[in-house]
Amino acid sequence: MKHFDAIVVGCGAMGSSVSYNLASRGMKVLTLERFGLNHEFGSSHGRTRIIRLAYYEDERYVPILRRAFESWRELQSRSGRSLLRMTGGLMIGEPEGTLVSGVLRSARKHGLPHRVMSGREAEEVHPALSLDEGLAVVREESAGVLFPEACIESAFELAEGAGCEFHFSEPLGAWESLPEGLEVRTKDSRYLADRLVFCSGAWTQKLLGGTLPLQCERQTPFWFSSQGQTCFTPEQLPIFILEEGRGRFFYGIPDVGHGVKAAESHHGRLVEPEDVDRTVTERDFAPVKDFIARRLPRLGRVPIASTSCLYTNTPDMNFIVGSLPGDARVLIVSACSGHGFKFASVMGELVADIATGTRPQYDLSFLSPERFVSRRVSRSDPDA
Ligand SMILES: Cc1cc2nc3c(=O)[nH]c(=O)nc-3n(C[C@H](O)[C@H](O)[C@H](O)COP(=O)(O)OP(=O)(O)OC[C@H]3O[C@@H](n4cnc5c(N)ncnc54)[C@H](O)[C@@H]3O)c2cc1C
Repeated sequence: MKHFDAIVVGCGAMGSSVSYNLASRGMKVLTLERFGLNHEFGSSHGRTRIIRLAYYEDERYVPILRRAFESWRELQSRSGRSLLRMTGGLMIGEPEGTLVSGVLRSARKHGLPHRVMSGREAEEVHPALSLDEGLAVVREESAGVLFPEACIESAFELAEGAGCEFHFSEPLGAWESLPEGLEVRTKDSRYLADRLVFCSGAWTQKLLGGTLPLQCERQTPFWFSSQGQTCFTPEQLPIFILEEGRGRFFYGIPDVGHGVKAAESHHGRLVEPEDVDRTVTERDFAPVKDFIARRLPRLGRVPIASTSCLYTNTPDMNFIVGSLPGDARVLIVSACSGHGFKFASVMGELVADIATGTRPQYDLSFLSPERFVSRRVSRSDPDA
């Protein structure tokens, strides 16, 4: 049976980065991927992802994010591809809402430069937007757009260059924790590894025998033609997130070459990853159509493209990163609750730290699997 230092399950945002970082530290790595590179069935496709620093979700992410920006830039320079475009960011909502109050908390706690404007002031600077006077707008410069397909391809190519073996269209079927190592079975092969790293996104729950309380949520972003209007260029329109009322989040990405992207975040249907309706319907479009009419009135109302994509949510909407209780050889880097892409560069480094016995320099305790799994998980079902 072929033996590896580590087997990585999945080659999306997290798996490609973990593979690259493990292989660059001299580990003998095999990465198994159910589909092909940059397929459209998981969570990482769709041309753009937002990256930002003043994190409203939880200020504990900020130190990790500082490093994420640096490591994306390092990957960019090593790969020679364009991976990150800074645009600045606007967080918009009621002054006491989750978004604005959370961003301000993070910014103040970590001394992050930001500027607070009223809705009207922001409209003057960013004419694409239509905002109410009562809305507060927090602008930060440390925000922009990542190009996910190029990020994944870059990490994959550099990992391959560092000796990582990739097997596409070869899903892990079952795994078992044995004293001599972790045995992994695929349809035609068996492998042994000292470490097993699950970067399997929406499929993770089944692969871990259903022990994690994960929910997979279908999302449908849309793209619209900017019809050459300069107000939708990144020079005039930063990335933005807008909390409508309390608790409904929409976001927009300026035209960086594919049209303006707009979507509602969350409020999607709960699904099983192998049984997702990929047809985007009028029902999916309705909330975004209203949002465009209300907040981006200069934009054409007919989308030029759409897709379906998956969030993997935990009950507290934080990630799961760390060793499985009961077997430190098994790591999980998954369940990014719809906001994980921006972290992929640094997560690869942190997993490589853990795998090589180096203590990660950031506090990851709030992401630990132990908050959800108390009993030992040592295998998955063969038909997972
Ligand atoms: C519409 C949308 C918009 C988003 N916007 C943002 C954003 O703006 N900013 C941000 O930071 N984040 C964003 N996110 C979240 C972010 O994209 C995800 O958190 C991230 O891509 C998750 O990466 P992953 O590697 O965990 O999952 P995936 O990319 O899905 O990778 C998991 C991989 O595991 C493979 N796999 C599964 N089972 C097996 C098996 N048995 N054997 C082998 N391989 C297997 C899958 O095929 C897949 O390739 C968004 C997500 C969506 C859906």
